[in-house]
Amino acid sequence: MVNQHYQELKDSYLFSTIARKVAEFQKTADCKSRPLIRMGIGDVTRPLCPAVVSAMRQAVEEMGQEGAFRGYGPEQGYGFLRQAVQMYYAGRGIGLDTDEIFISDGAKSDIGNILELFDRDLTVLIPDPVYPVYVDTNIMDGRPIVFLEANEENGFLPLPDELGPAGLVYLCSPNNPTGAVYNREQLKQWVDYANDCGAVLLFDAAYEAFIRDPSLPRSIFEIEGARTCAIEFCSLSKTAGFTGMRCGYTVVPQELERDGGSLRKMWLRRQTTKFNGVSYVVQRGATAVFTPEGQRQTEETLDYYWENARIMTEALTAGRIPFTGGAHSPYVWLKCPGGEDSWSYFDRLLHEAHVVGTPGSGFGRNGEGFFRLTAFGTREDTREAMQRIRSL
Ligand code: PLP
Repeated sequence: MVNQHYQELKDSYLFSTIARKVAEFQKTADCKSRPLIRMGIGDVTRPLCPAVVSAMRQAVEEMGQEGAFRGYGPEQGYGFLRQAVQMYYAGRGIGLDTDEIFISDGAKSDIGNILELFDRDLTVLIPDPVYPVYVDTNIMDGRPIVFLEANEENGFLPLPDELGPAGLVYLCSPNNPTGAVYNREQLKQWVDYANDCGAVLLFDAAYEAFIRDPSLPRSIFEIEGARTCAIEFCSLSKTAGFTGMRCGYTVVPQELERDGGSLRKMWLRRQTTKFNGVSYVVQRGATAVFTPEGQRQTEETLDYYWENARIMTEALTAGRIPFTGGAHSPYVWLKCPGGEDSWSYFDRLLHEAHVVGTPGSGFGRNGEGFFRLTAFGTREDTREAMQRIRSL
């Protein structure tokens, strides 16, 4: 009667175990004179920028006025926001039709829901370590998963050499948790692979705004051939502090066809059937992110996180601790010193430095021996945490 595949899901112990260990530690340790610093959580801390707040205030006013009030909006998103996203891509030389842009309540829902378009026996390639949503949503459907080894040897950026055919491939760049970023040549290899074997690339660009080097691709659609093999998920969560507001967008190109049918049409049909759109007020706020003023203010927030990441990578470099990420990503993925395993390094950092991070093993088998720190904290906390980590 119920979906038996749910039995196959591993309980998500990672963040609950961290919370339990931290709570137990706080009972016994003196955290008053040396407060705990949380460098583990992937949520942002900087507030919404003024342009977003003012656009939403105005939208709320409209909603309270006869004549300006709006009820159900278009399922695919209001035209004004889709055009803003279209212009955002055009700024990087990517031509999109507004019909190819779907406004969502964040990347996570679309990443899970897109699977409805695909057979349950398709083989899925998922990098390890990885954002756990890709794995769990496929387990729920009972799809066969093949893990792609992401490790120190390949810079945590697996490539398709010598891979057999697959149905779906997840790529996340800049990556959560490793902070690694694919370059153009590497993404071209994935696009060629997908076009050769008929796979669909599910490209998660949730952290694209953190890329500072213009030679690095921020969208899969910067790569020739991607329009026939890729879907892109993006989000304003980390870019503009929308983790609690909920707004993202998914791009499904017109040329993307499988079994003679258009995936864009299927996704439109799915969304119009099961989704009633993102609220008008939130879409007005999201549109403000793409105005020149919104972009300038958003850059200031990103600069704040970038500087945190710089402080972190500088300290790790000085301490000769190997790491990836930090340059084009809010995540720094470090190798636990002395070959320590992820959880014992977690315990040591908690007990000896009063710093909380995320054990890499929680993101997959290849995460063992690694540790994730985030740049989303305050400047003072970041400086202090890195000093404590170094003095360990
Ligand atoms: N993709 C990745 C790689 C993420 O790390 C996250 C959030 O942490 C998401 C997607 C989900 O973002 P959203 O808040 O838009 O649902």
